[in-house]
Amino acid sequence: MQQWQETDPDGPSEADIARFSSEYKTCPSCREEVYDQAEFCTACNHAFMPQDEAKGLPLWVFITAGFLLLSLIAVGFAI
Ligand SMILES: [Zn+2]
Repeated sequence: MQQWQETDPDGPSEADIARFSSEYKTCPSCREEVYDQAEFCTACNHAFMPQDEAKGLPLWVFITAGFLLLSLIAVGFAI
């Protein structure tokens, strides 16, 4: 009866547990750490975006990076 952890096909494998339980994201509203899979913040009920951002970089990253690049270029010309 002690081998259920390794032989139970219905139970989550250790790899799955490690994969899902180790992913956290920081709530942009209250800075609380919540599970990456959570749809709402457990602390302030902030609604997170759909899980698209888990698959790739969200659009705002590129927009922010673009602004940052433009700012650096502007500063470079200003000096
Ligand atoms: Zn929150």
